[in-house]
Amino acid sequence: MTHEDVRRMIKSQNLHSMPAVWQACGWKTSCGCHICRPALNFYLLADWPQQYQDDPQSRFVNERKHANIQKDGTFSVVPRMWGGITTPDELRAIADAADKFAVPTVKVTGGQRIDLLGVKGEDLPAIWDDLNKAGMVSGHAYSKGLRTVKTCVGTDHCRFGTQDSTGLGIKLEKTLWGSWTPHKLKLGVSGCPRNCAEATCKDIGIVCVDSGYQISIGGAAGMDVRETTLLCQVPTEEEVMDVVKAVTQSYRENAKYLDRIYKWMDKVGREWIQQQVADLEIRAALVARFELSQSIYRKDPWAEHVVKSAPYEPLTTLTLEAAE
Ligand code: SF4
Repeated sequence: MTHEDVRRMIKSQNLHSMPAVWQACGWKTSCGCHICRPALNFYLLADWPQQYQDDPQSRFVNERKHANIQKDGTFSVVPRMWGGITTPDELRAIADAADKFAVPTVKVTGGQRIDLLGVKGEDLPAIWDDLNKAGMVSGHAYSKGLRTVKTCVGTDHCRFGTQDSTGLGIKLEKTLWGSWTPHKLKLGVSGCPRNCAEATCKDIGIVCVDSGYQISIGGAAGMDVRETTLLCQVPTEEEVMDVVKAVTQSYRENAKYLDRIYKWMDKVGREWIQQQVADLEIRAALVARFELSQSIYRKDPWAEHVVKSAPYEPLTTLTLEAAE
């Protein structure tokens, strides 16, 4: 069976648990394996947010640890910086954490935030707690989910700006953070076609123009380099928010696990995705399902870990990381 077959079966047969899927598929390995479990966990999570409980043991090690494991066994810690904006207080808190936990490398990332590299596993809960207390949450720099929304300064500071690209980027990041998707999801918002936020090589890119917002999808700048394809142009920020939520939800509900948006679009066609967002009834239903899922699943893993005082979990064997 293909992944798409399995997804169809999960929906048509109302399968709400991994054992139910294994049984329906006639699985030969009783508990699944390190390849099927993360995919099934995601499909069930995406399709049944109210019925299915996330299974942390079916996640790749970076998602299970809420941090990227480095080659020497230490971890990197990346707090979220909404739309790439920070404050002196946040910067002081990051500097204090770097000093306190003897972080060897502090690096500015391509996603407009700061990476603390070389944190010891046993220090993770304490450094998260310190950053949480300074008002910061996990940047999910390790997740198959929303990473960053890169912005330019737009009308706030730039003489070429046509719209408030920074404000829109912050709104988008505050709406989408904590959402799980088939692969990582990166957004960019540029204040004019000069495109300083490189929006046209993101999974979803918005380029502001005098008459509104051009929304394009399917960019990439990794193993594959792809320019986005125009999806639609809308006149208001509210419509941008709805279209982005609808595209994200459709991607979650239909794509194969570990396919970026450009791979999904190659399979279903740009026109099919366009129809989904152009039909106002379908768009509204996608938005509603996205918001329902966010209301259940959007959590800051750092805060959760600290509140529960969960013991440090040793690494297990599920370490296979996804290819791009
Ligand atoms: S993309 Fe346009 S608005 Fe944004 S910083 Fe560049 S020139 Fe200015």
